[in-house]
Amino acid sequence: MAEIKAIISDFGGVLTTPLLPSFISLQNEIGVSPENFGKALRAITEEDGVNPLYAMERGEITEVAFLERLDAGLAPLLDHEPHLHRFREIFIGGLDANPQMIELMRELKAEGLRMAMLTNNVREWEPLWRAMLPVDEIFELVIDSAFVGCRKPEPRIYEITVEQLGLPAEACILVDDMLPNCEGAREAGMSAVHFRDNDQAIAELRATIA
Ligand SMILES: [Mg+2]
Repeated sequence: MAEIKAIISDFGGVLTTPLLPSFISLQNEIGVSPENFGKALRAITEEDGVNPLYAMERGEITEVAFLERLDAGLAPLLDHEPHLHRFREIFIGGLDANPQMIELMRELKAEGLRMAMLTNNVREWEPLWRAMLPVDEIFELVIDSAFVGCRKPEPRIYEITVEQLGLPAEACILVDDMLPNCEGAREAGMSAVHFRDNDQAIAELRATIA
């Protein structure tokens, strides 16, 4: 196995607390359950031929256009108006930084590893998520789906990441809480750690780079 020279970290759910409390807040504050979000997204995807969440994450549609489409998709499932205008505030408000993983990234950088972040994200959310952690102190490179026009687990986004690092894929390891993103990284030739909790992810990452 090639020596690992670069750590590539996901953002949401790895460098932050889990995303589930954000969905629970959306349920409590605007009355839309995670199940109904899923149902609406599937129905819209069938109708439009493209998942609007993925389109937003690729920067193909704006956050406003996404919320309008989602609003229309949710309407038949609910007995009230969805009122999604607070979606961003509630979703990001439900997330906190994950100090243990941020500290690990700091240590790995100090140990001489190259550090990159690879995130499926929303263009309009950039100032908000960047304010949650010391991005520029730790990461030399941020690959944000909304600015490169493709998203994990599409092969192209892993190619862009290794091209920008100037390293072979075999020298890179992704840490991500979404299994399909880890599988995509492995198909691209990288190693991957599927984050489930801090202790498990730190132990697996340390074992892989040792
Ligand atoms: Mg994630």
